[in-house]
Amino acid sequence: MTVNPSGWRPSTPGSVANDTGPATVTGNRALQLEEPLIFELDRGDATGVDIEPVKVSGDRLGGLERKSAIGLPGLSEPETVRHYTRLSRQNYAIDLGLFPLGSCTMKHNPRLNEKVARMAGFADVHPLQPQETVQGAFEVIDTLAHWLIELTGMHSVAMSPKAGAHGELCGLLCIRAALEDRGDAREVVLVPASAHGTNPATAAFAGYRVENIPANAAGRVDLDALKARLGPDVAAVMITNPNTCGLFEPDMVEISRAVHAAGGFVYCDGANFNAIVGRVRPGDLGIDAMHINLHKTFSTPHGGGGPGSGPVVLSEALSPFAPLPFVAKEADGTFKLIEEETAADRDLKSFGRMTAFHGQMGMFTRALSYILSHGADGLRQVAEDAVLNANYVLRQLSDVLDAPFADSGPCMHEAIFSDKGFDGGLSTIDLAKALIDEGFHPMTMYFPLVVHGAMLIEPTETESKAALDQFIAAMRSIAGKAKAGDQSLKAAPVYAPRRRLDETLAARKPVLTYRNPVPDGSEADGAAASVGGG
Ligand SMILES: *Cc1c(COP(=O)(O)O)cnc(C)c1O
Repeated sequence: MTVNPSGWRPSTPGSVANDTGPATVTGNRALQLEEPLIFELDRGDATGVDIEPVKVSGDRLGGLERKSAIGLPGLSEPETVRHYTRLSRQNYAIDLGLFPLGSCTMKHNPRLNEKVARMAGFADVHPLQPQETVQGAFEVIDTLAHWLIELTGMHSVAMSPKAGAHGELCGLLCIRAALEDRGDAREVVLVPASAHGTNPATAAFAGYRVENIPANAAGRVDLDALKARLGPDVAAVMITNPNTCGLFEPDMVEISRAVHAAGGFVYCDGANFNAIVGRVRPGDLGIDAMHINLHKTFSTPHGGGGPGSGPVVLSEALSPFAPLPFVAKEADGTFKLIEEETAADRDLKSFGRMTAFHGQMGMFTRALSYILSHGADGLRQVAEDAVLNANYVLRQLSDVLDAPFADSGPCMHEAIFSDKGFDGGLSTIDLAKALIDEGFHPMTMYFPLVVHGAMLIEPTETESKAALDQFIAAMRSIAGKAKAGDQSLKAAPVYAPRRRLDETLAARKPVLTYRNPVPDGSEADGAAASVGGG
């Protein structure tokens, strides 16, 4: 493919996306616009700005200045705007339709959150401003902290971790500090098979040896196996509750008692707190540390307006070891940022800092806006509706899809299925790709690992019955074809801008460097765009 200096190339039928319908000259399919890479659109010297050439007055970089052209694509402003706008139309988003990605809680992000987060008094504050000028921001952090403590029944909360996995690390560092404080070096963290994948990764990152505890036939932690493994070398148990099979762990109190009796701590992965908020207080279950994904439970899902935020609620035993800094309310009603251990007239044994500043301020305002607009009763209803919707999906599909834990009772916020019973060599991936043709983002696939060919569906509470019924109809139709061994599913997606891609290769060997095609058809190094390792 040669670069056309006019920025436009006639489409090569079949080279682009799909073979549905007649080829078009432009490669566009009605209003689904085909879009090349920006490097392929490059018009050389074209530019969106008109700046006088700089009068170079001698070498100011000690001979290190660039000699060759930088090699970025040259396009005018409208061409650039259109390029990115066309690409943006190829994104699937929660604002377009149902996004049933299990364990991710892709729910609607209320626009009120965005309005509040953009208020100048919140959006324009700087973390290095004098403390007396950001009292309102501190009050937001403090008020949100109180809500999180109240909702979880815990003793304190560390607000600064910036994502769920970061919160896990914070919790484990608190546990390590508490153990070191009592001169107790323990090396092992137990992680059940039904835990989220970030749990073992975090434990290993924190320097612990990870040992797996099996799940029982009902998809829950094998209590006897856990008890049998407890001992003086076990620092903590990390339990995801509700677990990644979408099931509540009913033995949590007994697990906590056993772990505490053996001198260890209980870490709970609370990313799925949306399933139990207002109904269950983790503090009552004997948990010592739990992160809450503000960007799941309290709206603003991934990509829905900001980065993540993973505050960690702590038991009384772990509270002294919480990270710095934190906001404290003074006797006179003002707020103060405690940045040093010695700055507080309390018994602090902080393990240190997780982040440069206070945490993810934009997420704090969004989460507090969500909490205050729902109120305590509204939050409880969030959990009830999330669970109701997932059970509706479970029961509406369990006659056409294998539902391994359907007999274990109701699920929590997500329903799990498998590809058992698919014929003709079809599997989970074929159903997921066919779902794209029906206009839905696929569910979480092949996770959790305890279910072969898993499909984990989290509808969330923000979907109406009508939206769920449409999704269920699509799922039933595809499941019927899969069980009949209909090979047309192997070709899906047919209507997407691109057909089936080699996702494993893309993940293992990502091509991050654009190479300029040269006329003989081979590729030359684009001196230009060496933006990363290839
Ligand atoms: C999403 C999730 C995490 C990780 O949260 P991030 O914010 O993506 O780091 C951990 N555990 C569970 C159960 C999750 O669903």
